[in-house]
Amino acid sequence: MIHEPPRTDQGKGPRKDPSNGPRNHARSDLIDDSLPGTGRPGGDRSADNLSGDVLLPGDDGYADAATTFFASGKPAIVVRPRDAAGVTAAIAHARREGLALSVRSGGHGLLGAATNDDGMVLDLAHLDTVELVDPVNRVVRVGAGATWGRTMATLAPHGLGLTAGDTAGVGVGGLTLGGGIGRLVRKHGLAVDNLVAARVVTADGRVLVAGPDEHADLFWAIRGGGGNFGVVVSFDFVAARIELVHFGSITYRPDDPERLVTAWRDHMRAAPDSLTSTLALVPPMFGGSAAATVTLCYTDDAVGPLRAIGPLRAIGQVLTDNVRVLPYPDVLADAHRPPGGRLLSRNTLVRALDDDVIEAAVAVYRGGTSVVLRSLGGAFGRVPADATAFAHRDAEAMIVCGAFLPPDATDADADAVLAPWAAVARQGTGVYLNFQGSDAAADLATAYPPRTYARLAEAKRRYDPDNVLGRNHNIAPGNSAPGNGTPTEGPDQ
Ligand SMILES: Cc1cc2nc3c(=O)[nH]c(=O)nc-3n(C[C@H](O)[C@H](O)[C@H](O)COP(=O)(O)OP(=O)(O)OC[C@H]3O[C@@H](n4cnc5c(N)ncnc54)[C@H](O)[C@@H]3O)c2cc1C
Repeated sequence: MIHEPPRTDQGKGPRKDPSNGPRNHARSDLIDDSLPGTGRPGGDRSADNLSGDVLLPGDDGYADAATTFFASGKPAIVVRPRDAAGVTAAIAHARREGLALSVRSGGHGLLGAATNDDGMVLDLAHLDTVELVDPVNRVVRVGAGATWGRTMATLAPHGLGLTAGDTAGVGVGGLTLGGGIGRLVRKHGLAVDNLVAARVVTADGRVLVAGPDEHADLFWAIRGGGGNFGVVVSFDFVAARIELVHFGSITYRPDDPERLVTAWRDHMRAAPDSLTSTLALVPPMFGGSAAATVTLCYTDDAVGPLRAIGPLRAIGQVLTDNVRVLPYPDVLADAHRPPGGRLLSRNTLVRALDDDVIEAAVAVYRGGTSVVLRSLGGAFGRVPADATAFAHRDAEAMIVCGAFLPPDATDADADAVLAPWAAVARQGTGVYLNFQGSDAAADLATAYPPRTYARLAEAKRRYDPDNVLGRNHNIAPGNSAPGNGTPTEGPDQ
């Protein structure tokens, strides 16, 4: 279980500097010192018209911005602007001083790239407003620094909601830019499928509105291409009418996982789009026993909950069942920061959850690693592959594996744990980078088919030719194949 760290010290009183306490081993070693600008001084709060909060080591609020869900850093300066002009000034300062630039929205990125050592953290926490800008067309403008929990809570009184991640504290910025797979992905698609515009500050300081009719190449690229093309300050989404949902978990005796997964797959193949579910196989760990759990979210439709959900109660021997009707914002869980240690996380998108894939996934679970299968299809699958930079629209499911290793685990230990995963990954056709805890060139090549990658590289060349926004799953400007630019190889997260 991952637990959310409280983020309480945004300029509100003394807070311990993490550099005086234990470092979060899991993430601190991901900062790639070969990236341009790392290691230069630059902590000058009066420079370059910096606005908003400008924090140096030891200041109130510095610790929170320097520490992400997975990483601790020691940036030379943290800038927390209040508007797009403040973002422009911060980028200019980072460029002038040669500071590595980390962009932070919710700080939950698996690479821990939203912090660094000796560079700048551009923290968008103040850009967190959620406004209903067009009630008739249900257009909501959400600041990139808002969390999904805050967003849903603000929309709920209007009877509206967005499909997004499953965790309240995750940021709108990072999740949306990678695609955004949520609890209603089969009904409403990815988060980016509901995006109609975004305000983006480019590396040269321009504030652009990207949408279908303006800077359409940028609009296409930010829907799955990550934070490579500019700093997004706000997103315009079309919200859906969502009030109450059926939500909860059904746990089963995990004694025949192949049969369970097969029966779950068969049900999801026939299920209405209104039902999205995941199936988690968790091996015994931390003194607990093995568990098999379906978590589902269903919005009412003509099929009705009895037929949509009911058969899931017969796919295995049910141990517990807490599916109930909830206000949609209550679906989002709190997550807590993982204890020190090394978290391995990999995923693959599979076209068909056939018997070979199921066998390989169950072998990973039997080897002691958790496996979560997320159902896709429905609205997600009806978007043309070239409509957004997230291209793998033919995937029936995403399979994610995750394991915790002790803090002193070596790369060889990690490779040994991941060895059974290779048989699953081989059968996948894509990777979802937001869930990928490594940033090797091979990950980029799997995430983006060649034509998609070439378009992304062209957008990168156009909007960030100097790779100022380089601390991410990095697209090299103008190179048509992954792996030709800034080195991005890093250890597992
Ligand atoms: C507990 C947990 C639950 C999760 N659940 C889901 C889920 O259900 N569905 C899902 O799809 N994903 C999920 N994720 C993955 C999540 O989408 C990614 O971790 C995402 O990067 C988090 O975004 P953030 O803004 O919180 O992170 P950050 O660490 O702030 O950002 C991650 C990276 O995105 C880029 N970035 C962020 N904001 C901006 C911006 N405004 N402009 C430009 N670049 C930016 C930067 O490169 C940054 O390093 C989960 C992750 C965690 C840890």
